[in-house]
Amino acid sequence: MKIAVFSTCQYDEDFLSQHNSGHQITFFKVALSEESAVLAAGFEAICIFVNDILNKQVLDILHQSGLKLVVLRCAGFNNVDVRYADQLEIPVLRVPAYSPEAVAEHAMALILTLNRKTHKAYNRVREGNFSLEKLMGVNLNARKVAVIGTGNIGKAFCRILKGFGCQIKAYDPFPSAEMQELGVEYGALEDTLNDVDIISLHCPLSIDTQYLINEHSLKGIKPGVMLINTSRGGLIDTKVVIAALKSGIIGSLGLDVYEQESEFFFHDFSELIIQDEQLSQLISFPNVLVTGHQGFLTQEAMTEIAKVTFDNIDAFQAGSPLVNRVEIRS
Ligand code: NAD
Repeated sequence: MKIAVFSTCQYDEDFLSQHNSGHQITFFKVALSEESAVLAAGFEAICIFVNDILNKQVLDILHQSGLKLVVLRCAGFNNVDVRYADQLEIPVLRVPAYSPEAVAEHAMALILTLNRKTHKAYNRVREGNFSLEKLMGVNLNARKVAVIGTGNIGKAFCRILKGFGCQIKAYDPFPSAEMQELGVEYGALEDTLNDVDIISLHCPLSIDTQYLINEHSLKGIKPGVMLINTSRGGLIDTKVVIAALKSGIIGSLGLDVYEQESEFFFHDFSELIIQDEQLSQLISFPNVLVTGHQGFLTQEAMTEIAKVTFDNIDAFQAGSPLVNRVEIRS
């Protein structure tokens, strides 16, 4: 098939080229949007990532230019109007679980860095400063952690927490028996958020979960809580979280995702002024650690993404069952 791949970085090109099962692929560094949709004219399929926009308008443009298939090289699909694609009879396929450990381990990396301040220690020591002042952390052993969403990534994260000796509380509309056996204690969302030392978000972004962390949900939380978001920026109301950081209600924040990330993440802004007050503010706080959506970025995950993406395309071309089709929930 002739496939247009959007939002590509060098690592996408490397892994997709290596696992290409015989398709004609063209890489575009730009993200898919109404402006760039014209680039996909004449292609039968598009391969897109987290910050590509595939709304009604873009789908209309692509449908008219002969699009037959959408393959997402990620798990989340909040950026795609799946219902409208279905009306146009364009299947949307994804990579549902490429390496949950990659993201779970990154969430733990954020926790360990924020807690033991290794990022600050690294810079200090490079300047010959061996002072330990203000580097104090806490033991993770026996700490209470709330895991919101125990799907593939949440489960992998719970297993890591278990190894650290943490007490795990969780909220998920569909509790996992496997996690309950591991000792995870499920409860209602508010009960789960309250009285824990760390909150980590592992649920998808949807109408139900948008601004899950808001003024109301922060009311009962333990002051000084650490909040970790490696899922989607829209899960937290950034304005409220900044205020909670200023007042000390939130003690530290680790983000791999940001609501307005599409304008910045995956690009080099080191010589430019970041024109986003909230992002600039967050980056400047000493107790905030922001990474640019790199949770998925391991060799294992990239290999799996590339393989499953081509399996999806091959299945469509062969008329085989589309096992990774995004389901439309009524
Ligand atoms: P998954 O589908 O396996 O699990 C999601 C879980 O969330 C399910 O158990 C589901 O029941 C639960 N859930 C649904 N609605 C909920 C709600 N209202 N409250 C609490 N839980 C709810 O997905 P996954 O593979 O574990 O991925 C989770 C999210 O991680 C993805 O949606 C994506 O946004 C994000 N992600 C981030 C990266 C990254 O690089 N940072 C990479 C992959 C995925």
